Amino acid sequence: MRTVTVIGGGLAGSEAAWQIAQQGLPVDLYEMRPDVQTGAHRTGFFAELVCSNSLGSSIPDRASGLLMEELRMLGSILLTCAEQAKVPAGGALAVNRTLFSATVTEKLENHPLIRIHREEVKAIPAGNSVLASGPLTSSSLAKALQALTGEENLAFFDALAPIVSADSINWDIAFKASRYDRGTLEEGDYVNCPLSQIEYTQFVEALLQAETIPLKSFEEEIKEGVRAGMHGFFEGCLPVEVIARRGFDSLAYGPMRPVGLTDPRTGRWPYAVVQLRREDRAGSSFNLVGFQTNLRFSEQDRVLRKIPGLERAEFERYGQMHRNTFLNAPVLLKTDLSMRLRPSLFVAGQLAGVEGYLGSIATGLLAGQNAARTGKGVPQLILPETTMLGSILRAITEAEPERFQPVKANFGIVPALTDDIRRGKRDRARAYSERALSDLKVCLDRDVAHRHNV
Ligand SMILES: Cc1cc2nc3c(=O)[nH]c(=O)nc-3n(C[C@H](O)[C@H](O)[C@H](O)COP(=O)(O)OP(=O)(O)OC[C@H]3O[C@@H](n4cnc5c(N)ncnc54)[C@H](O)[C@@H]3O)c2cc1C
Repeated sequence: MRTVTVIGGGLAGSEAAWQIAQQGLPVDLYEMRPDVQTGAHRTGFFAELVCSNSLGSSIPDRASGLLMEELRMLGSILLTCAEQAKVPAGGALAVNRTLFSATVTEKLENHPLIRIHREEVKAIPAGNSVLASGPLTSSSLAKALQALTGEENLAFFDALAPIVSADSINWDIAFKASRYDRGTLEEGDYVNCPLSQIEYTQFVEALLQAETIPLKSFEEEIKEGVRAGMHGFFEGCLPVEVIARRGFDSLAYGPMRPVGLTDPRTGRWPYAVVQLRREDRAGSSFNLVGFQTNLRFSEQDRVLRKIPGLERAEFERYGQMHRNTFLNAPVLLKTDLSMRLRPSLFVAGQLAGVEGYLGSIATGLLAGQNAARTGKGVPQLILPETTMLGSILRAITEAEPERFQPVKANFGIVPALTDDIRRGKRDRARAYSERALSDLKVCLDRDVAHRHNV
C-alpha cells in the first residue's frame, strides 16, 4: 500500500492522518513543533488549540452544532477526543485543552499505521499527500507553496472592515441608494457617505499620516515580505491605507468610486463616496465596504470620523488584520479538497480557506478520507451541498477569487429550502439541519453500499 504524507499535526492534519490510517494506509505525519514553533502554539502536542478552548455551540440548529453533528456521523476522532475532554460551557462544546490535545497525541502516537516525524517540511511532497500546515505555515513551506501555486494565490492576512451602528450615522448627510439606482437591491441595503474634493483630500492626507498597528513578532517575516512589495492579501482585500499609498486618487477609483451614486442634496455624483452595507437584516449596523484597515483603533476613531456622515460614528468593530496563511481556494481547489493542478495533493484546515477550529477539523476529515481513497483507487467522498460541510466546500471553491476571504460554518451559505413554508429564523435553521442530516445519512448509506459492491 502507498504511504500518504500529512504535513502539519494541528487540528486538520491530526484528523486527516487518523482518517487515512483507519482506511488501512500507512501515514507519514510531519509536525515541526516542538523544535520549530509558530509563535502562537505553546506545546509539542498534536491538535493544540491556540486560543479559545471552545469548539462552538453544540446546539444542532446552530451552524456549528450542525457541523459537529455531521462530524459525528462521519466518524471524527477529534470530536470524540473533544467530547472526552469536555468541560461545562452551557450550549457550547468546550474542552480542557491539555487533556484534549494530549488525548489526540496519544491516539496518533499509538496508531500502528502512523509514523511521526518531528521536523519542518520545506518542500511540497510529490506523492499522495495532505497539506495542513495551518494559518501559521512556516515561511520556507509558504515559499514552496507560492512557487507551486503562483505568488498571487497565497494570502498571509485576513483583513476586516470596520462596522458602525446605524444610529450613530448622520442621516442628514448619508443617503440610501444603489449604483445607477439599480432596483436589484432591497431599499436601504447601501448607505452612501459623499465627499467633496476638499473633503476627500483632507481624508486621504489624514489616512496617509495615521499610525498602523505594528505586526506581532511572529509576523515579522511577513513584514519583510510586505516591504519587499509582496502584499500578503488578495487584491480585492487590500487595506485602504495600502491603496491610498499607491496614488492620491487610487481610493476615488477604487473602494470610494462615486459613479452612479447621485447625492439627493446636490443632484450630482460626489467626488468620492464611502459605501456602507447592512450587517444584519434589521439594519442596526453597517460595515464600511472595502475599508479593510490596519490603523490603530484610536486612529480609526480619528480618521474615519472625517468621513461626512460618520462624524459621530460608534464602532461596533474596528478594522483589523490577522496573520492567516490561506490559499485562493476558488482558483486552486476542487470540492474534494484536491488541488486542480496536482490531484494527488489535498489541502485541509485554514490553509484551504476555511475559518475556525471546527471547519479545520471537518476539512481535515474529508481531505484525509479522499487522500486515502485516491491511494486505494476508490471513488471520492463527495458530500451533499445541503450539509454544512458540503456548503463550506462549495462556498470556498465557488467564491469570487479576487475578494476571497476564509469561510466559516453559517446558514447563509446553505442552499435555500425548496418548499414554500414561511418560517422564522430558528425554524428555518432547524429545517436546514434536519435536511442536512437526512441527506448526509442517505449519502453515507450509499457510500457504504457502493464500497461493499466494489
Ligand atoms: C493566533 C490564532 C488564534 C486563533 N484562535 C481561534 C479561536 O479561538 N477559535 C477558532 O475557532 N479558531 C481560531 N483560530 C483559527 C483556526 O481555527 C486555528 O488556527 C486552527 O488551529 C487551524 O487549524 P489548522 O489545522 O488549519 O492549523 P493548526 O492547528 O495551526 O495546525 C497546523 C500545524 O502545522 C504545523 N506546521 C506549520 N508549518 C509546518 C511545516 N513546514 N512543517 C511541519 N509542520 C508545520 C504547525 O506547527 C501546526 O501544528 C486562531 C488562529 C490563530 C492564528
